[in-house]
Amino acid sequence: MSDVRNVIIIGSGPAGYTAAVYAARADLNPLVFEGSVTAGGALMNTTDVENFPGFPDGILGPDLMDNFRKQAERFGAELVADDVVEVDLTQTPKVVKTPTETYLAKTVIVATGSGYRELGLPNEKRLSGRGVSWCATCDGFFFRDQDIVVVGGGDTAMEEATFLSRFARTVTVIHRRSELRASKIMQDRAFANEKIRFLWDSQVVDIIGENRVSGVVVRDVNTGEQTELAVGGLFVAIGHDPRSALFKEQLKLDDEGYIKVEGQSTRTNLDGVFACGDVVDHTYRQAITAAGTGCSAAIDAERWLADNA
Ligand code: FAD
Repeated sequence: MSDVRNVIIIGSGPAGYTAAVYAARADLNPLVFEGSVTAGGALMNTTDVENFPGFPDGILGPDLMDNFRKQAERFGAELVADDVVEVDLTQTPKVVKTPTETYLAKTVIVATGSGYRELGLPNEKRLSGRGVSWCATCDGFFFRDQDIVVVGGGDTAMEEATFLSRFARTVTVIHRRSELRASKIMQDRAFANEKIRFLWDSQVVDIIGENRVSGVVVRDVNTGEQTELAVGGLFVAIGHDPRSALFKEQLKLDDEGYIKVEGQSTRTNLDGVFACGDVVDHTYRQAITAAGTGCSAAIDAERWLADNA
């Protein structure tokens, strides 16, 4: 059991490290749990990031996150490459446990992010950032005049397909059923778009390409017949899972499992507990918005400490 810390931050993506920079510069000596496997968050799995302001020539995702980490360390944030496996945020002080240690804190910032659902295909990870993407806003620009496929049948898939049609020559939506789950308005918009076509009752069963995606293998779920489609990109839009399971008995979550916060703040339903980044946000899901709310969480925690400590 350790001393009572001012702030414990759980998570090491753009939200967690930005909260750490701000908390450290406010002299709060934050302790950051980075996770044992994926320190640095979602951008560690990508190549070029061209939309994070301040890098006119773009920057590789892992390099950007290394910069975030160094900046947090420079101001004295204490970084621990371990997983938080249990919390009691209802107590004062709050209790945060790793597999081997128990820590106490006056405030906790949750920045655990959300996981993009994967298709689970052998070549998916290898070609991630090389034609396989989970984010049209992030990567659409790289696919100008190319033929691409979007997998999924919900609102996100329609939104991604419609957005991608600005750049791509053609967008093929591949859906395993014969009708979409997406809302009518999103469906109508996609159906009306000349660049978008649909492959129904179909599943992508393989991704082809040495260093970049050059095609996909599609299986008809009714006949089992497999065909090859030559495409330059594959966007996976089958959903996200916010990493909120650890907190679900204590923090209020919405129907999809995202942590609820009060208005524009990062305050959760528990006093002294703040949440930021993609574990809260099912709308924007960008590094810059995660970093922005990470900043807000540190300021909210700092003001809470000034009023309550
Ligand atoms: P994350 O980055 O997901 O970080 C959360 C961190 O918390 C992880 O390190 C995780 O290990 C840690 N964690 C979770 N649970 C625990 C626990 N119990 N204990 C300890 N640690 C824990 N956005 C852009 O703006 N531009 C892009 O070009 C772009 N490209 C992308 C490419 C890919 C392949 C992906 C997947 C995403 C991309 N995004 C991009 C989106 C962007 O990465 C996310 O919006 C952003 O990383 C969210 O930040 P976050 O800090 O909320 O969460």
